Order: sequence, then structure tokens, then C-alpha cells
Amino acid sequence: MSSLALLGGDPVRTKLFPAYKVIGAEEAEAVQKVMETGVLSRFLGAWHDDFYGGPQVRAFEDEWALAFGAACAVSVNSATSGLYAAIGAAGVGPGDEVIVSPYTMSASAVAPLIFNAVPVFADIDPKTYCLDPESIRARITPRTKAILVVHIFGQAADMDAIMKIADEHGIIVIEDCAQVPFATQNGKSVGTLGHMGVFSLNYHKHIHTGEGGVVTTNDESLADRVRLIRNHAESVVANKGTADLINMVGFNFRLGEVEAAIGRCQLKKGPDLVAKRQWNVGYLEERLDGIPGLELPHVSEGNTHVYYVHVMRYDAAATGVSRQTFIKAMKAELPAAELREAEGALIGGGYVRPIYLQPMFQKKIAYGSATRCPFECPHYDGSADYSEGICPETEKAHATVLTHELMRPPMTEADLDDVASAFAKVAESYPALRDWERRQSGEG
Ligand SMILES: *Cc1c(COP(=O)(O)O)cnc(C)c1O
Repeated sequence: MSSLALLGGDPVRTKLFPAYKVIGAEEAEAVQKVMETGVLSRFLGAWHDDFYGGPQVRAFEDEWALAFGAACAVSVNSATSGLYAAIGAAGVGPGDEVIVSPYTMSASAVAPLIFNAVPVFADIDPKTYCLDPESIRARITPRTKAILVVHIFGQAADMDAIMKIADEHGIIVIEDCAQVPFATQNGKSVGTLGHMGVFSLNYHKHIHTGEGGVVTTNDESLADRVRLIRNHAESVVANKGTADLINMVGFNFRLGEVEAAIGRCQLKKGPDLVAKRQWNVGYLEERLDGIPGLELPHVSEGNTHVYYVHVMRYDAAATGVSRQTFIKAMKAELPAAELREAEGALIGGGYVRPIYLQPMFQKKIAYGSATRCPFECPHYDGSADYSEGICPETEKAHATVLTHELMRPPMTEADLDDVASAFAKVAESYPALRDWERRQSGEG
């Protein structure tokens, strides 16, 4: 065995890994066609035929709905906007609580705050990292208006159990599908399992339009409310004849024609991109299986996993080497990817800190200086608890997971072999790394 790069040996590889680049000639041609029309957006923020946007936006929405088996798809300019619109459409308001995940991108926990409602954090299932139905049940109060479920890392939460709880209490369920396009549960697409689903089309996701998003639903009246919130509801409701004015304070969440045209191309490429990623993970896992200290990801029965990232548990107690040192050693063995040179090898630890530990929640400051809305505002008769320890499985996951992106297409078998060799090499060197750590801490 050659010596670790961290300890002065030769690295497994120095040639950059290929970029995850999914934009090509099809997108360029589609964009060119839109440019030639000169119409880069046809939305009008008034009750008019163009209230629903231009031809690319409408075609994109129809094609998205068909591809994912949803009755309605409403495009938006980001998943963040989509989450805000979905929370608004659900009728969430001051005094309400929304159950959210602490282990996600911040927007999915912050969305209720936009409507002055209080996010209540439930814990995750340690196997899938998605909300645990039993923890959700324990957090339900008479104030619970919605549950915002995040299908994190590439597979869906246990939606049968979550919908059963929600139905018992008459609660709306929103699925954050940003990391799981084309994932299924029991043969059905994510984004159709709850009342609304929200997808992201930002640059880092499986398929993208630079920035963008889509809200899916099988409920035409919810779709209608999302469309209103997307496009200046307040100035549309009178002429449209909308009777329910709750949360009809609109935004501009409209997607442009150029992005919609790109989205139509991306939608066609998505299944193949996901299939390649799944094949790569299968190939890599055959080689990683059995490496001491690493636990491969669990895929729940009924789920397909689309591997936004590949997440493993790292057992520092078993190896005697900290996760931080393990990652450092991996980063020394492997290169960065093209277009992301500054990040080094795309492997890291922990994902995000449990969101309730962020200053906004710790200090309970969102809107206003004196009122402390919505956390302690006069409309709210609950008491939000954001103490450390409220979600032990999340805190444990944050302390033990390893995430990497070294399986995205167009990684080849040879590329994946280098990744597997680096993991094996580092794992074979645990004794040397233990010595190194002792020297670092000045004990030896
Ligand atoms: C990326 C992401 C978002 C936000 O998506 P944008 O389109 O950038 O607003 C929301 N939730 C999760 C889980 C994400 O990964």
C-alpha cells in the first residue's frame, strides 16, 4: 500500500473529474428560437389571457404535469418561490404552526415565516434522513396547519404514514422535491403523494434552467391559488372573481420564456441523467461495500433513489479517526471537478447544521423589533422550542454523515474506480491517520 497523500505520498488521482454539464445543443437551439420571437416573457399581472404566461411557459407546464403524473404543474422562478406560494395557497397565516424538517436547505424551514406562521421542527428517520412520521405525530397541535416534508438526498419520506396522520387531522402536506425529481414511491412520482409538490430547477439540481422551479398538485383549486400568488394576486382577484381573499397578497414568481424553453429540453433528458447516476452509484457501492467505518445508504422499500448526493454514515468510534481527518485524507487523494475547481474533491461532512440552531431561531427574531413575530406575537398561543436536543437523530446525522457527489454523470467506470480506490486507501491507513491525529494534537 502506498502512503497517503495527506502524509506526503502520491495521490490516487490529480486529473480533474468531469463537470456535471447537462446543457447542450438542444437547449441552445430552443433558446435561439425564443430569442428570435423577441418575447422573453408574456406574463401580465392582470386578469387577462396572458395572466398564465407565454407559449413556452404553458407548454413546459403541460409537459411537466404529464411527465410526473400530476393534474397541474405551475412553473415558478425558484423552488424557494414555489415553497412560499404553496404555503400561501395552503392558507397558512399568523397563529398557525407548520411542521418542518431541520435537516434541509434553509428555504424549506423558513417558508412558513413568510406568512407569519411558526415553523415547528420534527425529527428525522435516521435511515432516510427525511421526517419521521412518529415525530410528526408527536408535534401536532390544534395550531398545526401544514406539514412541509422534504425528500432529502434523493429518496422520499414515508408518505403513506405521513398522509394518514395528516388526513386524521385535516392538515395539508407539501412535499419539497428539490432533490428528488424522477424519484418514485410505490410506483408514483414524488410531488403527487401529498397535496402539493415543489421542484427546483437551480443550477445544482439534477436538471436545471439556471434558476427555476415547478409546483405540482392534483387539486385544481390549489393550483389556481399558486398561480395567483405567483402573479400579483391582489390586482387579479376582482376581475377573476376570486372569492377567497386569504393570502392573496401576490408576488412576482414568474418564470421567463427562455427558462421554460430550456426546461422543456431538460425534462426530456432527466430520466436518462437519473438512470446514469443510479448505475454509477450501483457500480461504486459494489466497491465500497465492506470498507470499515462506512455504512452505505439505505433505500426504503417501495422507493427509487435518485442520489442528489451519495450519503454514508462514518463511524469514528470504530475507526479511531475523526470524520474531519477522514475527509481531509480523501480530499488529498482526489481532485476537484471541472467548473468547480475551487471546492476541491466534492466530498464533505454533516450536510447542514440543524436549522433550529441558526440565529433566527435561537434568538427568535424574524419580523419587527418589539413584537417578535411570529414566535411570540399576540396571535400565537403556542411556544416554539428551538433548544439544542429537540431533534436528536438530526443532530446525530449532522455529526456522522459523509456526503459526496463523485458519482454524477458523465463519471466513467475508470473515474469511479479512482473514487473507490481513494476510499479503500484511506480506510487501509486508519492506524497511520490515528498517529497523525495524535501528532497534530501534540500528544505524541
Ligand atoms: C435547492 C433546494 C431548495 C431551493 O431551491 P431553489 O430553486 O434554489 O430556490 C429547496 N429545498 C431543497 C431541499 C433544496 O435542495
